[in-house]
Amino acid sequence: MGSRLAVRAERVFDGERFLPEGTVVLVDDGRITSVGPATGPASGPTASGPTASGPTTQKTPQKTPQETPQADQVLDFPGGTLLPGLIDAHVHLCCDSKEGALDRLADHDPTQQAQVIEAGLRRQLAAGVTAVRDLGDRNFATQDWRNREGLPKVATAGPPITIPGGHCWNMGGAVSGVKQIRDAIAERVDRGVDVVKIMGSGGINTQGTDVYSCQFSDPDLRLIVDLAHAANLPVTVHAHALAAVEQAVDAGADGIEHCTCLTPDGVRLSDRLIHKLSSRNIAVCPTIGVMPGMVPPEKIRRLLARYGLSVEARAKDAATMFAKGVRTVSGGDSGINQGKPHGVLPWSVAGLVTAGVPLVEALASATSVAADGCGFATKGRIRPGFDADLVVVDGDLPAALGRPATVIINGNIAAR
Ligand SMILES: [Zn+2]
Repeated sequence: MGSRLAVRAERVFDGERFLPEGTVVLVDDGRITSVGPATGPASGPTASGPTASGPTTQKTPQKTPQETPQADQVLDFPGGTLLPGLIDAHVHLCCDSKEGALDRLADHDPTQQAQVIEAGLRRQLAAGVTAVRDLGDRNFATQDWRNREGLPKVATAGPPITIPGGHCWNMGGAVSGVKQIRDAIAERVDRGVDVVKIMGSGGINTQGTDVYSCQFSDPDLRLIVDLAHAANLPVTVHAHALAAVEQAVDAGADGIEHCTCLTPDGVRLSDRLIHKLSSRNIAVCPTIGVMPGMVPPEKIRRLLARYGLSVEARAKDAATMFAKGVRTVSGGDSGINQGKPHGVLPWSVAGLVTAGVPLVEALASATSVAADGCGFATKGRIRPGFDADLVVVDGDLPAALGRPATVIINGNIAAR
């Protein structure tokens, strides 16, 4: 746990909006205790914090010492922007951010797998990401990494539920028939996953699967969703096919991943579907964002061209859905190849802004809205009582998000 910090920057985005100039964030024992003007009422009474437990080991370097009440250290960032630690709502920690990562993950032994997971989390943290939602691991390997000190918090789905030979079958989550569906949900409940992930259509990265069609029958998909909900688990569905998006919406899914709305005649994003998504408050994670200077692997580029997709067109569709009221959550599909490595999330946010989503809303999609969508109750906002996960960037947003000056996790400086 960290010592008592006061953090101030020229601008503060609290997860929902920019706060007035001069805002100081006080941190005690890993939690935010106060957010307000330096000498105003907000910093006084609560500055000692509800969880104060006396002096703790100092792990963070001393910055400019200045007068600020009840803090051991003051971190001052003139010209900087302070934000909540970012949240990547769609990662694959078992994937090593290199070409063919999804194909190779089954070859990793447990030691290699642990190395890949830890390396992915460290890259995420260096990019300012302090919490992730893993939407597809192998053999529940990410369960052990949910709460590691000094690393991003992890919400997990375990292996995505798919059909035999279906998208990401090699993660180990293929099911066929009612009994296997029931067993799969029971296992996820036993293991304590945070969310159930279903592969509703084929995927671009798994050979032999069909991105235009549903993988499950309507009754089977509905059964999976109902069983998960009966166990109080939210459900999010991978869906490239328009048919799979519609099927997931009708089955009562809480979230849609990708939401590409592909048909053999191209993308079909109808107002009727968008209205359904927004009126049911379904979270859409469009998984846009590619590392600057990186082009997708040749295989992926060929497939994207064949489907008539481009990175820009997908971002435009995401912006259209957002503008029409669809709850939008940012996630990178991080780890699946070199263009989408762990730490790509800042470019998912930037992609939304480029496509027309207002900056504040794009930032919220990777902080407060993502926290709500992933079930991180004390993350994604700079508020008293919330975890002291903070990131400071220098320069113009959103581009500056990609170059965090300082990342603080649980009150400790993590990376510079
Ligand atoms: Zn994915």
